[in-house]
Amino acid sequence: MTGALAGWKGVRRGWFDLHMHSSASDGRYPPAEVLRRAALGGLDVIALTDHDLAGALSPGEHRVEGRDIRVIAGAELTGRHLGREYHLLVYFPGEPPTAFLDLCRSQSQARAERYNAAVSRLDLGLEPASADAAAGRRALTRHHLGRALVQAGHAQSVTEGIQRFATREVVPLIDLPFVEAIRRCRALGGVTSWAHPPRQALLDHAQTFARAGLHALEGLRPGMRRQDRTFVKRVARRFGLVLTGGSDWHGWSSGSNLGLFRIRGEDLAPFLDRLSAGCPSVVD
Ligand SMILES: [Zn+2]
Ligand SMILES: [Zn+2]
Repeated sequence: MTGALAGWKGVRRGWFDLHMHSSASDGRYPPAEVLRRAALGGLDVIALTDHDLAGALSPGEHRVEGRDIRVIAGAELTGRHLGREYHLLVYFPGEPPTAFLDLCRSQSQARAERYNAAVSRLDLGLEPASADAAAGRRALTRHHLGRALVQAGHAQSVTEGIQRFATREVVPLIDLPFVEAIRRCRALGGVTSWAHPPRQALLDHAQTFARAGLHALEGLRPGMRRQDRTFVKRVARRFGLVLTGGSDWHGWSSGSNLGLFRIRGEDLAPFLDRLSAGCPSVVD
């Protein structure tokens, strides 16, 4: 659709947040409520980036609470590289292609199977994954297991539940090579950004990921120290990557509302150019 990105020029003066979650994955609020809170928070453009799920909000213009707000289609895929978990934000200029929705669905179904395996390993009488999750329409994370443990009285808090019970033996890493995720998403026309990249991992893997076709690093995040931001920018420049940014808002911590962290569109101009140009699927 041409509508989703038409008129970027005006939007460049607007406020952006390109990373947030709804209750379709491990966020607190349903997608429509996330959108409403984004509008109330004064945001002009958002991407809802649920874990291994896309399509909970339709891309393009919405009018909410008397405000025009634009949605960029996105998702946050979980992958692994050399035994560690990394997250890949994927954005599309319009509707995501069916093949990407299929990829998300199979990843979410694998999450439901992983959840059920954890439930039976723990043997604490927890409920298995819902029908929605089993069908790949919701993405279950360790957060959900932690919450179920609290509700069943086995932990005082979600964090305690995760730390005590949701070990890697109980909940293994998601089985998607990060490099393959980059390649596949790029080939499907997605613009990819490495979410909250750790400093040492940037030093170790940025080159590998850039060669696989990564477009961006998530270098604009709340609470980043100036030297960390500078470091991410330097790595991005070195490997020809652009920057994205977002709050990674889940809605659980009280007092943290959408819009408290926001980015000027002009600071995302190289990313927006890339997004509106579409991406060639061929990597040099
Ligand atoms: Zn999350
Ligand atoms: Zn996230």
